[in-house]
Amino acid sequence: MRNKLIAGNWKMHGSLVGNPALLQSVAAGAATLATVSLAVLVPFPYLAQTRSHLEGSSCAWGAQDVSDQPGGAFTGEVSAAMLQDFGCRYAVVGHSERRARHGEQDGLVAAKALAAVEGGLTPIVCVGETLEEREAGNTLPVVFRQLDAVLDTLGVRRMARTVLAYEPVWAIGTGRSATPAQAQEVHAALRQRVSAADWVVGSGLQILYGGSVKPANALELMGLPDIDGALVGGASLAADDFLDIGRAAARA
Ligand code: PEP
Repeated sequence: MRNKLIAGNWKMHGSLVGNPALLQSVAAGAATLATVSLAVLVPFPYLAQTRSHLEGSSCAWGAQDVSDQPGGAFTGEVSAAMLQDFGCRYAVVGHSERRARHGEQDGLVAAKALAAVEGGLTPIVCVGETLEEREAGNTLPVVFRQLDAVLDTLGVRRMARTVLAYEPVWAIGTGRSATPAQAQEVHAALRQRVSAADWVVGSGLQILYGGSVKPANALELMGLPDIDGALVGGASLAADDFLDIGRAAARA
């Protein structure tokens, strides 16, 4: 039985003044959710503040990106070791917003996932197709290509130290979620692909769904056999919504 994880991707939202109320509510809510893990993925400048509010709670935290490099002349980048300094458990890699806006290719995403694992973090590796790719019938080839880059670079054993997130690009921030059937089909296919390399790793791999998850659709999505939680964007900025998604995952 895989545990469920509900991870909130704050994206470029938050403020030093506004964050404490959200973090304290999430920490209090996490204490009531014994069977579901919660995490928040905050902008780099808020990691220290996040740690000060969540340390000792059952809500983990992490960053939204990590460098593939351990250190050196890489202006603007943040290493896995630096994230460890702030108590991070997770780092998102390959979010579609970074793939699209920063031209991050599969090879770099895989290198970031490897740097995270080797630095003691759990990468949340995002894969997902655009609407154009889905309509052309290319959903599985696209997500397999993205997954294979990570599998090849990490090797299947290290894959066990990752979390995978299926995030159809057309469902992110649009209010339009994948249908349960669409999501389950891709999740099952991703799991099968990892299982073909190592059945134990594939069957134990946590695969989150992301794309307009909200309290109204969480129960149905979280009840699907190959969905092990959610990567939540917009709805993670309101504690009640985020915790309701956690409660739905606990009931599913
Ligand atoms: C995300 O940013 O990863 C995401 C899934 O966003 P939203 O929930 O807002 O669609």
